[in-house]
Amino acid sequence: AKGAGKNQWRRYEAHLHAEMVERLELRSALDHAVNEGHFLLHYQPIVDLPTGAAVGFEALVRWHHPKRGIVTPDQFIEVAEESGLIVPMGRWVLEEALRTVAEWRRILPPGTAPYVSVNVSVRQFRESGFVEQVRNALTNTGVPPQALMLEITETLLVKDDERIWGDLSVLRDMGIRIAIDDFGTGYSSLGYLRQRPIDVIKIDKAFIDDMVTGQQPMALVSGIVSLARSLGLVVIAEGIEDAAHRVVLVRLECPLGQGFLFSSPLGPTEVLAWLRNSQP
Ligand code: C2E
Ligand code: CA
Ligand code: CA
Ligand code: CA
Repeated sequence: AKGAGKNQWRRYEAHLHAEMVERLELRSALDHAVNEGHFLLHYQPIVDLPTGAAVGFEALVRWHHPKRGIVTPDQFIEVAEESGLIVPMGRWVLEEALRTVAEWRRILPPGTAPYVSVNVSVRQFRESGFVEQVRNALTNTGVPPQALMLEITETLLVKDDERIWGDLSVLRDMGIRIAIDDFGTGYSSLGYLRQRPIDVIKIDKAFIDDMVTGQQPMALVSGIVSLARSLGLVVIAEGIEDAAHRVVLVRLECPLGQGFLFSSPLGPTEVLAWLRNSQP
């Protein structure tokens, strides 16, 4: 039995070692990808739930890996955060998203171009000069601040970081929308919503999934929607996959939604075609 235990331990150790090597390899490959610009953005429509008209698009990063093809962020965001590579990557994401929205604005009839929503990691906010970075990117692309939304995670909502909230207030005063992503998954009290300079709440997919089957999630979603309205915030329901979800959300007067029911994230060249073919 003693021998067996030892073998098991060895296997465990070998497993840990393999995992560590894999992480280091991933990190160095990611470093290379950042330097070489091996990323692209996909865009998922954010729609007006009653009509299905797109009001905005969320920019979602992809890694164009030379061997593995298109890699989604669940496979690299964590390592990008840990290593700090999320900072240069995030800068590229912001600039690329704004270049793209500038193009939509050139091509589409005046006043009809959707906004772009960009995910921002806490690490990017911690870096000094984030406000300047955003301001410069807007100036360089000629995009008005109203055409940009920034998504921050719910964990940031509870942080008493004066500098971050000061920066967010400045960005919001410029006219940029600030959204709380994955709302409902953290432990933040709803009270924080009142104190923070935010405009939009994105309700996490988990609640939308459970809504049709369970009573409690439905009450929760309904509660968030009415609280948001009373605070003057807009709600986006995430991960809508079937028509039944949409029906319930429209009944609850949730204004906006996103999900495979409307469209999966689209490559940059597919966006304009999707707008032409799907708009009411
Ligand atoms: P997220 O911000 O919550 O983005 C929504 C994710 O859900 C996206 O996955 C999207 O493709 C997926 N999704 C959308 N609709 C549906 C649906 O109806 N059903 C299901 N099952 N999934 C749906 P994706 O693109 O793999 O991104 C995963 C996460 O990676 C994002 O979650 C976000 O946290 C992070 N991420 C993506 N791009 C960036 C970025 O540029 N910067 C940072 N910091 N994080 C990013
Ligand atoms: Ca997001
Ligand atoms: Ca989300
Ligand atoms: Ca998420």
